[in-house]
Amino acid sequence: MIVEMRQGATQEQIDAVIERAHKYGFKVQLNIGTDKVVVAILGSDTGRVSTEVFAVLPGVESVTRIMRPYKLASREFKKEPTLVHVGDIVIGGPKVVVMAGPCAIESREQLFATAEHVLKVGASIVRGGAFKPRTSPFSFQGLGQEGVELLSELRREFGVPVISEVTDPHLLDDMVDHVDILQIGARNMQNYALLRAVGQSGKPCLLKRGLAATITEWLQAADYLLEAGGGQVILCERGIRTFETSTRFTLDISSVGVIKRVSHLPVIVDPSHAAGHYELVPTLARAAVAAGADGLLIEVHPDPTNALSDGLQSLTFSDFERLMGELKQIAQAIGRSI
Ligand code: PEP
Ligand code: MN
Repeated sequence: MIVEMRQGATQEQIDAVIERAHKYGFKVQLNIGTDKVVVAILGSDTGRVSTEVFAVLPGVESVTRIMRPYKLASREFKKEPTLVHVGDIVIGGPKVVVMAGPCAIESREQLFATAEHVLKVGASIVRGGAFKPRTSPFSFQGLGQEGVELLSELRREFGVPVISEVTDPHLLDDMVDHVDILQIGARNMQNYALLRAVGQSGKPCLLKRGLAATITEWLQAADYLLEAGGGQVILCERGIRTFETSTRFTLDISSVGVIKRVSHLPVIVDPSHAAGHYELVPTLARAAVAAGADGLLIEVHPDPTNALSDGLQSLTFSDFERLMGELKQIAQAIGRSI
């Protein structure tokens, strides 16, 4: 249930709503907007209480029952778009934010050379996997903590934010001080212990859509992060499994429009994992910017033919540079910039 307070409602009136929710055994979460306060009444059984119980209280403008199974990620709870701040970069504003770098960090040279190139041609955040969730236990699993330390050195030296995937709550302590955005991978979208732990860290977080998750399930996963206290959530569409096998996954480009309609969270697109092939990445990246995505997450490698993971979908430096030129024009055509 969403209780919208009147403009200028007093703290006493807001407290009365919270007190009544607690009396019925519900949790609450406040959204303090620029001109009004919205109180989300949270519980699995809010249906047992009439909306009038809250509507009757002084200072209440309206009470809406949320039929959607997600609440905190919904537009009903928060009308104004969420802006995620990472240093002086804003995700969800007019600028399309490009995050680029290797799938997995392989060495200092590989990471630093890639970062230097992608930043030179317009990326603003560097990606690099240290703990890799590989489908096979026999594939390269990433450099682990050594990779995190290389990212830490990179952000200090280049003064640039970095994003890396956290695969287990136990790794959080070692990662929070070294990365700017914690990535939750597609395979972990419904790892609720991880979602809670990342939410509690209060760090900006990128939540990838699960391989076979509906948009509703994805937003319910976002609710876990938001409920735990992490307000700075970015969603990332990375393709879903369908009957089509000619791409690695099927990029659900319509999810960008759906998210914009039903949620206040920013949404970016990862064309690399959806395409699975370097020749298809530019097509999907261009479509994502045209569709209104707030950013992109793209894999780039100095020598994709010898990459230790995802070489086939990684762009070379020159392919990435060409793509950035195209994306800048598309962004401009829809009144945005890169
Ligand atoms: C990644 O971005 O490195 C990754 C493993 O992606 P996903 O979780 O989308 O498969
Ligand atoms: Mn990858």
